[in-house]
Amino acid sequence: MRAWLDWLRARERAMTRLLGRFVRAESPSFDKPAVDRFGRIVASEWKRRGAAVTRLRQRGRGDHLRVEWRPRGRGTTAQILVLGHLDTVYDTGAIARMPYRVSRGRAWGPGTFDMKGGLVIALYAMDALAAVGCMPGKSVVFLWTSDEEIGSESSRAAIQREARRSDAVLVLEPAAGLDGRVKTGRKGVGEIEILATGRAAHAGLNPEDGINAIQEIALQIARISRWNQPRRGITVNAGVIEGGTRTNVIPERARVLVDLRAARVEDMRALERKFRALRPILRGAKLEIRGGFNRPPMERKMSAGLYVKARALAREMGITLGEAFVGGGSDGNFTAALGVPTLDGLGAVGEGAHSPSENIVVRAMPERAALLAGLLTAL
Ligand SMILES: [Zn+2]
Repeated sequence: MRAWLDWLRARERAMTRLLGRFVRAESPSFDKPAVDRFGRIVASEWKRRGAAVTRLRQRGRGDHLRVEWRPRGRGTTAQILVLGHLDTVYDTGAIARMPYRVSRGRAWGPGTFDMKGGLVIALYAMDALAAVGCMPGKSVVFLWTSDEEIGSESSRAAIQREARRSDAVLVLEPAAGLDGRVKTGRKGVGEIEILATGRAAHAGLNPEDGINAIQEIALQIARISRWNQPRRGITVNAGVIEGGTRTNVIPERARVLVDLRAARVEDMRALERKFRALRPILRGAKLEIRGGFNRPPMERKMSAGLYVKARALAREMGITLGEAFVGGGSDGNFTAALGVPTLDGLGAVGEGAHSPSENIVVRAMPERAALLAGLLTAL
């Protein structure tokens, strides 16, 4: 570990320079040409290092990149999957308001932390391995996807396919906290839409003929709010409501969008069942329920073994590697749900993800790259 760390520390500036190139190539999830442009930059870095790069072409979204590094001279079929994403939540032009800069030991800019820093860490981890002359015994597949920030609809199948072939999945999403904790658990995340249909009527002339869809939705919100169990990791949040046309009309239609989170797979299933079983409260009203969980929970048991290994490797560098459970989902949720050991939050250490002050701790870059290098050879 020490040899890799020393080698990487001497390349801290080169890492921030590459990060600058990556950050300036803006890549908002919904802008396919931009994501593809950035993808070509990342692909060329890997090709330069002799890795096999395949573009997984997409129509509506940016192309995903599959980068494969094979151990020389060994006929192994065992594989480790490293996950990351090319897209950011920032619209094109954000770089003008928050230009890339390195100051006070931090590197600032859109996507530095989530998660272009992680992409740089992966490249330098492989460089360190090559330089020090110790390579992983298994194939390493890096999957850089284009739509993680918008739910991974176009990449989910590829992520699951690669995960099924892999002995472990390492996710380069941002670390938790400035002490760089890895993520050993994530809540599952879902979205449900409840649509109520009532009957329109004049609020003054014949209110008795109306069925108030807004009232129906309000009653349903009161009902589902009781399903919150924050201590168990279950949250139900009515986040958006719409309905009605004018005050003197009994509204015929209303809807609510609900964010769902659960820490355990069994709670996710139970919650989905409860939503499906919702029935109208007002006589004559109709209900339609759409959606469900998009990412299943990542339970700690899927991360525990990898975390123990990572912690031991970090200790060799004199670093105490903590762990965190977080409420947000990532693509690690998909792979853990398949039963493949998954460790998340191995990417950059920083602050302010998805905000104008997004930044990473420069000093931590070599450490994280060394940790990844260590894991790739240890697994
Ligand atoms: Zn991310």
